[in-house]
Amino acid sequence: MMIFCGNKILLRGNKYDFADGEISGPDVISCSRDLPGAWQNLPAWLDVKESGTLGDGVRLVGLRDFWHIAGDKAFSEASSALQFCVWFRNARYCSRCGGEIVPHSHDFGRECEACGAVYYAPISPAVITAVEHEGRLLLAHNSAWTNDRYSVIAGFVEPGERLEEAVRREIMEEVGVTVRGIKYFGSQTWPFPNSLMVGFTAEYEAGEIVPDGAEILKAGFFDPEEIVRMNIPDKASIARKLIDNFLASHSVNTL
Ligand SMILES: [Zn+2]
Repeated sequence: MMIFCGNKILLRGNKYDFADGEISGPDVISCSRDLPGAWQNLPAWLDVKESGTLGDGVRLVGLRDFWHIAGDKAFSEASSALQFCVWFRNARYCSRCGGEIVPHSHDFGRECEACGAVYYAPISPAVITAVEHEGRLLLAHNSAWTNDRYSVIAGFVEPGERLEEAVRREIMEEVGVTVRGIKYFGSQTWPFPNSLMVGFTAEYEAGEIVPDGAEILKAGFFDPEEIVRMNIPDKASIARKLIDNFLASHSVNTL
């Protein structure tokens, strides 16, 4: 089972999958092994207090670093396990009446014993889009980034909104241009804390690039030779997969 402490995963060397009882001493908050029925099909996790004694020879790493160590498949399993683990840690009582919520045996829901309200682990869908124009790619610098990083445009889907509408709205809000030819690219679970990133490609249609000045400070269309010299996202992210896909379509590869 995977062992989480805060938002980090515990490793001994590069090992992350531990047998029951193998890590001794920590104060356990919750454990998927204690759950009924259907819950046993989840990637197993143990949640330990940050103040707990973790034992010798172990270390804690964030999930971005974990991807570099363990790869896509393990990252995906850890992403799932950590999101359930954090949900159990943070959502312990019914938000309608304050009663205790208990896990279902037949699905991945939890129910209030007092009022019957049913809850599922939250997932926040977000769209992320590579916009191309005359052999160049739209990249933007977000105000939240401390370094000079550039990436493709992303944003959360709003209630009642289709994914394609979210793509158009986010790009218009952040850089002021319209797009056409929106095509699905792929998706990625992104447990920071509970996003589902849905990737698209699109073509520039019309408008002048005007960064919104709040979330986006700088933006422009860049050609492949410029992009390979820029500070772009880590290969763990779908953002990078979109950028690499653009570069590969113009016969440029990054390491
Ligand atoms: Zn309730």
